[in-house]
Amino acid sequence: MAVRLEGIHFLVTYRCTYACDHCFVWGSPDAEETMTLAQLTNVIDQAKECGVTDVYFEGGEPTLAYPVVLAAAKHARERGLGFGVVSNCFWATSPEDARLWLEPFVELGIADLSLSSYAYFVEDADEEHLRNAVQTATELGLPMAVLEVGAPACLDIPGACSGDVGEVMYKGRAAVALAPGRATRPPDTLVTCPYEDFTDPGRAHVGPDGELQICQGISAGNVFAGGLAAVLDGYDPHARPVIREIVAGGPWALAQAFGHTPRRDLYADECHLCYEVRSALRERFPDVLAPAQCYGLTAEQAASAVSSDNVNAVASSTVRIAPFTRADFPRLLAWAISPEFLMQWAGPMFKWPLDEAQLEAYLAPTRLDPPPRVIWRAEDLSGVPVGHLELNIIDRGHRSAVLARVLVEPAQRGQGLGRAMIAQALDVAFGDLGLHRVELRVFDFNVSALRCYDSLGFVREGVWRDASRVGDTYWSVICCSLLEDEWRQRQTIEEGT
Ligand code: SF4
Repeated sequence: MAVRLEGIHFLVTYRCTYACDHCFVWGSPDAEETMTLAQLTNVIDQAKECGVTDVYFEGGEPTLAYPVVLAAAKHARERGLGFGVVSNCFWATSPEDARLWLEPFVELGIADLSLSSYAYFVEDADEEHLRNAVQTATELGLPMAVLEVGAPACLDIPGACSGDVGEVMYKGRAAVALAPGRATRPPDTLVTCPYEDFTDPGRAHVGPDGELQICQGISAGNVFAGGLAAVLDGYDPHARPVIREIVAGGPWALAQAFGHTPRRDLYADECHLCYEVRSALRERFPDVLAPAQCYGLTAEQAASAVSSDNVNAVASSTVRIAPFTRADFPRLLAWAISPEFLMQWAGPMFKWPLDEAQLEAYLAPTRLDPPPRVIWRAEDLSGVPVGHLELNIIDRGHRSAVLARVLVEPAQRGQGLGRAMIAQALDVAFGDLGLHRVELRVFDFNVSALRCYDSLGFVREGVWRDASRVGDTYWSVICCSLLEDEWRQRQTIEEGT
């Protein structure tokens, strides 16, 4: 076997109760992929055969799959493996409840419980859940540590925190959300990987996708496809693209080897540059730079080649936006097929049934000088209309506007066209129109739209509960916004393919 591992860390699910800025794997409440018990036990059995001695259950938040983790932990123990759990303690709402969650782990002989502190990442972090978990784990005699990153936790429990505060690593979401404001190092000084030993990694991560990740988003191979032993047998860090360049000279060597021009003058750390280069190379080395989740993409987005690392490339290569005119009326009328659809797409702007008179009134403000509204059709490169969107309430004094009435032709959905055409509209908003803020409202059940807006960097600001009455029910609205600096930072990080 070319390389041996002592530990396998299962990314049981990418779903999490939080969406922390420092998360390497873009965990969030919207993430969907979760390992099945069959996947976990299968890899545990293979791990045992390959000499692995310990497994960890991480995420995301692994206790969101609590019964599955318990069953997998039991399976690991029955095969003589030790196990640990990393958790954000969302479940420790009281010491009594924390005991209910922790006692089954104690009975299984857990070797380590690592509990996350949010002292550094959450302003005025209320560590009550952490305190409850630490107190209960201590009472149960459970081997436990508090993961402190960036700043020490303050729990008023003597000896509970190590004082060994870890550094922030700027990969995954941290590279996008945190790193730009902390960049002090020129790219040509980033010539090592300070955190991973690719020749003797010791442990690797496996998630719902089966990728054996040496670093988050850098795969040695897929254990679901080839089996763990085969992946470890075939792994050669000096031959595997991307890894061999990082081993030879860190992220700077990776950038040099593949002709990547750094997008910034300064970087927060090695991971910051590494993540930028890897994002740019992802489609060139899909077997190595995997899973897509670690690059902020759903599997669906990755499959449709709509990646967060090439917003502009996607936009320019698959779709373009053009002014909406009277000639577009018949098509838009054909797309508006029901009162519910009309409400979901346009809110109270139109009355059912949609007709030309309403569209005339809708178009009229675009002829004012300056127009308070711009409306576009989106079309593919052969000129076939595939979508519709607008910037409304363009306020040049406050430099703001509302992105609204985004629609992708029903037969064209699932290809990332919505994301591409919104990216073009944002380029106009923050470019030609010189805006500072673009906001939008979306119904809370429209999960695919929310995921799209999240991936473009929109920040969720709040919920208007039961804001729209539709028949006998009420729909709630989520408000989101994106600022010009956030858009530019995102482009700086993500452009480059
Ligand atoms: S430099 Fe790259 S390979 Fe090394 S830990 Fe950071 S992101 Fe991973």
